[in-house]
Amino acid sequence: MRLFLANTPSAALLFGTLSLLPTFSHADLPQDSRRAGGIAVIEVEPKTTTASFGELPVALVFEGNKKYAIVGLPVTITTGTHILNTDLDHVDFTVADYTYPEQRLTITDQSKVSPDPEQLARYHREAVEQATVYKNFSPLQVTNFPKFIWPAHGIISSPFGFKRFFNDEPRAPHAGLDIAAGFGTVARAPANGVVVQTGDYFFNGQTVMIDHGQGIVTMLCHLSRIDVKIGQSVAQGEAIGLVGKTGRATGPHLHFGVSLNNARVDPLLVLPKDQSEGQTTTKNVP
Ligand SMILES: [Zn+2]
Repeated sequence: MRLFLANTPSAALLFGTLSLLPTFSHADLPQDSRRAGGIAVIEVEPKTTTASFGELPVALVFEGNKKYAIVGLPVTITTGTHILNTDLDHVDFTVADYTYPEQRLTITDQSKVSPDPEQLARYHREAVEQATVYKNFSPLQVTNFPKFIWPAHGIISSPFGFKRFFNDEPRAPHAGLDIAAGFGTVARAPANGVVVQTGDYFFNGQTVMIDHGQGIVTMLCHLSRIDVKIGQSVAQGEAIGLVGKTGRATGPHLHFGVSLNNARVDPLLVLPKDQSEGQTTTKNVP
């Protein structure tokens, strides 16, 4: 087994000066953040052809002449040591402890807080449908990690990972980022990809899921209108629909989700810090 220490705290101990550097980050790679809901960016042997985490294949991308596995870490992951398996090797890495803040929301439609059995059955059917998409490792091969753009502009009304309470009842942590864009704002494809699912879901409302290759999937929810079809290729910046408040939403906003190897991760780890970076605001406005 070989350990790739360059991005781990132990490397910083071994090579003291490294500890002065900011958290590992590169323009063409997501931010390395080894916590529940984070991403482990792990250097692997350049000749590696496959990598897996748990049961699922993991994206492998080039950065210059180096190769990295981009491992999504589910919000349910335990802290401590985990293993990335590759066709050549395996790599240990450590997931750090991290506590997300709490958020309390009041939902007037009580059925969206405590769904009745029929609504729950519908929700479970939809969850299976979405999970099927998330687990798909599409043959669309990316060689570099996509340089994402923001799918819409606005303040972040609810960050990723918040432990949410609806009308004081605890619910699953927030699996995406809420962007408070106005009703009817154009929602755009954050990177090139293929529309793999559209639907009108109980909680997520009108939703578009885009496959960017190698298990990298994004989800845009609560749309008031969907302008793309399943199977359609979309270019980065292309309009996919309009922001709305369908599903469980307290007001118009875009819920933006990012999934890697079927793990929903913090979208801020893949988005540029500047919301306008890379935007082509005139493209395909309906
Ligand atoms: Zn949301």
